[in-house]
Order: sequence, then C-alpha cells, then structure tokens
Amino acid sequence: MKNPIQKVRPKLPPWIRVKVSAGSSREEVESLIGRYKLNTVCRSARCPNLCECWHKRTATFMILGSECTRNCTFCAVNHSEKPAPPKRDEPAKLAKAARKMNLGYVVVTSVTRDDLPDGGASQFADTIRRLRKEIPGVKVEVLTPDFRGNTASLEKVIDAGPDVFNHNLETVERLTKEIRSGANFSRSLKVLEKAYTLGKGRVAIKSGIMAGLGETDSEIEETIREIRRTGAEMLTVGQYLPPSVKHRPLNRYVTPATFEKWRRFAEKLGFKNVASGPLVRSSYHAENLFRKGTAR
Ligand code: SF4
Repeated sequence: MKNPIQKVRPKLPPWIRVKVSAGSSREEVESLIGRYKLNTVCRSARCPNLCECWHKRTATFMILGSECTRNCTFCAVNHSEKPAPPKRDEPAKLAKAARKMNLGYVVVTSVTRDDLPDGGASQFADTIRRLRKEIPGVKVEVLTPDFRGNTASLEKVIDAGPDVFNHNLETVERLTKEIRSGANFSRSLKVLEKAYTLGKGRVAIKSGIMAGLGETDSEIEETIREIRRTGAEMLTVGQYLPPSVKHRPLNRYVTPATFEKWRRFAEKLGFKNVASGPLVRSSYHAENLFRKGTAR
C-alpha cells in the first residue's frame, strides 16, 4: 500500500518511518466504526499512525460530526460555518462500538462547535457517562476544544468524570494566531488551568504541541514551561507533517535527539508522563502514557 503522505513530503528523513499494516484487527475496527456511523480523528485528520493504531484495536473517536466551525491551517478536518446538529444517539453508539472493540481506555475528541451554545460540552459529558455504563472500569480521556473559555462548559465535562482532560496548545504563542483559527494562546492556558482546578486532583491534565511549524527551540521550551504552570502533568510533543499541499508548509524536521532533549526538559519541570518524538500525536499510545506513572 502506498503511503499517501509521500506525495506531499517526498523527502521524509530516515527517522520517520510510518508503519503500514493491514489485517483482521484493522478491518474489524474499520467495520465497527462504519456500522455505528462514527467518526474518528484518525481518518478525518489523516493521521500517519492510523494503520498502526487500528491494527492494535485503538482509535480516537471524534464526536459532534465531521465538520469544524474553525479552520486551522495545519488541520485536515473539513470546515463548515453551520455543521449538522449533534446526533443524540452518538454517545450510546460510540459506547457500544468501544465495548465491541474490547477497549479499556477510550479517547474521545471532537471538532470545534462554536455554533452550539455550550460548544458541545453536554455531548462530551453524555459520552463519558455512556462509556462508564457500557464498560465498567473503563478509563476515559477527552481531548476537547477551548469552548471559547466558557467555564460552565468546562464544568459539564469535568463533572462527568473523565480520567484525563486534554486540550492542545498545538503551537507556540507567536504562531498561534496564524495557525489556530479562532484560538488564543492565553485562553487555552486558562482552559487547562480551570480544568485542573475543577478536577480537584481527580482528573489528569494533558496538553500537546507540534514542532516544525516555524517555531524556535527556545519557544518550544517556553511553551512547555507555560503548560506546566497550569498544573498539567501529561505532555505530548510531535512532528508536524502537512496533511496536503494546501496546508501550512513544513518549516523543519526535528531530530529524535531534540525530541529526547525536550522530553528530559519537561520531566525536569515535573511532568509525570511525556511522549516526545517524531510520530507522537496527542492520542498516540494514550493509554500507555496514562498508565506510565499515573496511578489513579
Ligand atoms: S479546531 Fe482546528 S485543529 Fe481542531 S478540528 Fe477544528 S480545524 Fe482541526
């Protein structure tokens, strides 16, 4: 099978090797997702790890539809000013599919829904509760939008009791405006801080950034510091890979040694769980990252 990202970036460095695997597990995941008419960020964001993750029977479910009201320059998710209304049966279908996939750790993310009064927070809350009902003992990680900083929306999500609350900074402060549509660096930091306070130590706070968008190494380090100040204890740092020629062009490939340097840097700041590497994405090996050192 030809790797689609080779068309966009013909000169991948030798340390980036995307694993392509077919097999019954991958087909089963694909068929369950199709049967329950669910969306995954794996497919919508053209994630380079899709084959590997689906082969291992893991997937990141994307709720609230497949069209986003924002239009970030690095992201492959489709844009719409007025996406379709949320499906009321989506939380139940997602929970059933997760049970059939034998998942003990489920990651749920969404498109941004600035058109909805609560930004889709109640759909996140319903999904968390449905998962807990359907799969006793399940661990749930949510990767949410910023809800425009709305505290009531954040409360709805945290009150439903996720094990991990993740909101990505994506990039450094200087580049946020040109890269993340409708987002604001300090508002995103406040989202993490509020989630930390609302979670009262019962919810692990996580965030992630990408390298290769035009930032400097010291800006990455400053961003890691800022994330840590919010109370976050889990961090992902990965290489940006443009999903197509229409997306923000790549600025640089970061070497594995630099990713390793950032991992050590973050751990020294007190992060308990850090994944830093070329193919790290915010949900990649999320369960391993959670279980490594976080005994909840
Ligand atoms: S908010 Fe940006 S990164 Fe998130 S799904 Fe929408 S376009 Fe993609």
